[in-house]
Amino acid sequence: MSQFDISRRGLLMAAGAMPFVGSACAATPSDKPARWAMVGLGSFAVGQIMPTFAHTKHSKMTAFVSGTPSKLQEQGAKYGVTHHYSYDNFDDIAGNAEIDCVYILLPPGLHAEYTIRALKAGKHVLCEKPMASTAAECEAMVAAAKAANRQLGVGYRVHFEPNNVEALKRFKAGEVGALKHVSGKAGFEINPNYGPHKWRLDKEIGGGGSMYDIGIYALNGGLMFVDEAPQSVSAVYTYDRNDPRFAEVEGGVDWKINFASGLKVEGQSFYTGSYVTRQVVDGAGGQIVLDPASSYDGVKASLQKAGAASQAISAGESRQQFAAQIDGFSLAALGNTPHRTPGEMGWRDLRLIEAIYRSADNGGQTVKV
Ligand code: NDP
Repeated sequence: MSQFDISRRGLLMAAGAMPFVGSACAATPSDKPARWAMVGLGSFAVGQIMPTFAHTKHSKMTAFVSGTPSKLQEQGAKYGVTHHYSYDNFDDIAGNAEIDCVYILLPPGLHAEYTIRALKAGKHVLCEKPMASTAAECEAMVAAAKAANRQLGVGYRVHFEPNNVEALKRFKAGEVGALKHVSGKAGFEINPNYGPHKWRLDKEIGGGGSMYDIGIYALNGGLMFVDEAPQSVSAVYTYDRNDPRFAEVEGGVDWKINFASGLKVEGQSFYTGSYVTRQVVDGAGGQIVLDPASSYDGVKASLQKAGAASQAISAGESRQQFAAQIDGFSLAALGNTPHRTPGEMGWRDLRLIEAIYRSADNGGQTVKV
């Protein structure tokens, strides 16, 4: 396996498992659910993740970690969760046998610190995307998981979304032929006055810009279909440099990843336009389109064989992705086997994003990876 083997197979081999496509089950189901601590009770945690536990089979919330005492009280009462921590006494989770897994739902600038602290406390960690602010931090997180003999996963929920899973399965079954090209588009209009968008414009806490936050969906989603290692990347910034929102982070970038076979995976990422997440996979004998590709609800997928009409792929409700991801990680933790989207995958993506920025900083120069 090459040092930069980005393929699904290569990543899972690096993480110690072979790839699979299909249901969320990576390990032997257990009668006892994995017990979870939520870290950072923000909009994604409260709006999407915490309500999802009602639909899981192998997962239960037992602890909350927050810097806001009123959230601990309110959410604790709502979910009957009685173990409460602040960021100051977070390391005390080590002594709590009621916590198996920790879900890091903090802004990216805090991911590495809290992931490593949780691993050192002996817990398995699912960390939200992007995995961290830098590839070096990702490397340290992967090393910490190995040292602790605990699982580390990244919150790439699309790998558990039923229509994406089915599209990938049908692609792997050869329904559109050999892979020719992948393209993606992911963006939204960022509002500097909206609380959860503020940190996204701050480099220290947000990481880097649109590519870290939304463009990563097109990059990671596109690479799901690829089974070879990248050779180089090139990229150009596409945002107005005078836009005051983007004093610290980029507001848009067009990027391309080149492979030895001649394959190109390319995408557009931006913070300056209407919400879109679109993925197009071209094969020698047809095309798969996902649009929206990575929304919370209503992912739409279709497959068109050359010369035939487009067929809708309807494999299930998109919202199932949240419970499937959490149960998938619970089973990985209970069986101590790698999660479908392991830390190595998040680390790979940060290395590619850093190379994309190096290229864009140098006027689109090709950067070897
Ligand atoms: P929010 O700003 O809504 O929530 C982040 C929470 O982190 C805050 O509410 C706060 O919770 C805690 N926090 C601790 N320190 C800080 C700090 N210095 N600045 C800001 N917040 C802090 O963000 P989101 O919920 O939108 O995003 C959280 C994570 O989830 C990010 O990594 C993001 O990329 C990811 N995400 C993933 C999505 C997906 O579909 N997979 C969708 C949306 C976000 P408290 O008061 O409890 O301490």
